[in-house]
Amino acid sequence: MSNNKTTAETAGQPHSTILIIGGGAAGIAAAIAARRSAKASGEPCSITLLERNARPGTKIRISGGGKCNVTHRGTPAELLEQGFLRRNEARFLRHAFYSFSNSDLLALLGSRGVETEERPDGKVFPLSGDAATVARAFEELLRESRVEQHYSSRVRRVERKGELFVVTTADKAFTADCLILATGGVSWSRIGTSGDGLAIARALGHTITKPSAALAPLFTLNAPPASLSGLALRSITLVATAGGRSVERRGDLLFTHRGFSGPAALSLSRDVAELMGESGNCALFADLFAEQSSAELEAELLKQGRKSGAQMVRKFLQSCPIAPPNGSFGTAPHGTIPTALVPFIMLHAGLENDVTWSKLVREKRHSLLSVLKRFPLGSVREVPLDQGEISAGGVSLGEVNPKTMSSRVVPHLFLCGELLDYAGEIGGFNLQAAFSTGWIAGVNAAKAG
Ligand SMILES: Cc1cc2nc3c(=O)[nH]c(=O)nc-3n(C[C@H](O)[C@H](O)[C@H](O)COP(=O)(O)OP(=O)(O)OC[C@H]3O[C@@H](n4cnc5c(N)ncnc54)[C@H](O)[C@@H]3O)c2cc1C
Repeated sequence: MSNNKTTAETAGQPHSTILIIGGGAAGIAAAIAARRSAKASGEPCSITLLERNARPGTKIRISGGGKCNVTHRGTPAELLEQGFLRRNEARFLRHAFYSFSNSDLLALLGSRGVETEERPDGKVFPLSGDAATVARAFEELLRESRVEQHYSSRVRRVERKGELFVVTTADKAFTADCLILATGGVSWSRIGTSGDGLAIARALGHTITKPSAALAPLFTLNAPPASLSGLALRSITLVATAGGRSVERRGDLLFTHRGFSGPAALSLSRDVAELMGESGNCALFADLFAEQSSAELEAELLKQGRKSGAQMVRKFLQSCPIAPPNGSFGTAPHGTIPTALVPFIMLHAGLENDVTWSKLVREKRHSLLSVLKRFPLGSVREVPLDQGEISAGGVSLGEVNPKTMSSRVVPHLFLCGELLDYAGEIGGFNLQAAFSTGWIAGVNAAKAG
């Protein structure tokens, strides 16, 4: 333990080479990596972990609905491309994803007997189907790594005194040569992530991008009709527009009793939260025929009218495939328009319930067309930050060295995980990012300490 930087003021306080605040995926990975790195170099290194919850890995335990989608299949480049849609964030994470990849993570879990399975969509889960197996493996790895662990220890303050960090909890003060901040984002604040780390980073001189919702449901001003609650639309394009700007995402959409959820809504929520911030409102639409242009869809409707003039439009819609691939209209790779939605399509298009194709005048055909391509879903009331799987925003990426996760502002400070200003998609990308950034923070803190 190198304790020659102690002053009269800090003498007597427990001292560590590396102190980590936050025992989530990033902090745990940082602790294990720091121990391995120190062991390899033969340098003495004491590591302390402070966590405000009663045990480590609380979010790991609830992740993936308790099943833990721990990472995603593919090369690091593929993970970055699919998981991080904003190029600057993918660029920032590149070194971390190559240094501690999904294969490294799975090998680490494998070394503790945790087998994993890859789903057809690329998501990787523990074979046990239980997130606790992953959390327990990391608890064992932490113990093996000889990390001094303090639980129910919420850090209140961090100060830089000379070359030391002085870290204060409710009843204790610790000193350290290197500090790793791994306190996570700000969603799900009830399980420990209420933004303490952002306040600490700001107090140490870092710039914080205001946190905002991501991977969150969308609440609308008027809740969807009760008859639609629980309904899923497969592979539509969800469009959000405000102030002349428009953002969209292809995927499944779920109607809820407060608005919308499902992959398309969750993925688009970060953009919607930004539009709400800029314009104060945002309108949502669903393109039910995302594979067809309006002209192509109109040609299909005309063909249908010629083929079955006596058929009620309502009946046709009830079996109509959503987003059929071009040239194969009539097959339903993504499912059909749900029957419960049809009355609302008719209503928005201003069509009589029993109108047949032969009675559908041109003007009405056009309004049907426009509803199918732009089904109105209402106006957004809120994108609830606390209900997001993650939060966007955090410590500005420009102030952190992506090769080491070291601060460009404060010497010997390292920052990692969701605390940083990146936000990944659903699919195991966020846990992988926390493990990867945590790992290189640990390795480099051990070198610096
Ligand atoms: C419901 C839910 C499901 C999810 N499912 C998945 C999934 O299946 N796959 C996926 O990839 N991602 C998933 N995520 C996202 C993923 O869990 C997070 O992105 C990831 O855990 C972030 O890791 P982290 O270590 O940066 O932060 P966290 O895991 O949030 O850890 C931060 C830790 O710091 C502690 N802390 C905070 N302040 C202090 C303080 N002042 N003093 C001491 N300790 C402090 C907190 O208690 C917390 O334990 C999910 C998230 C949620 C909420």
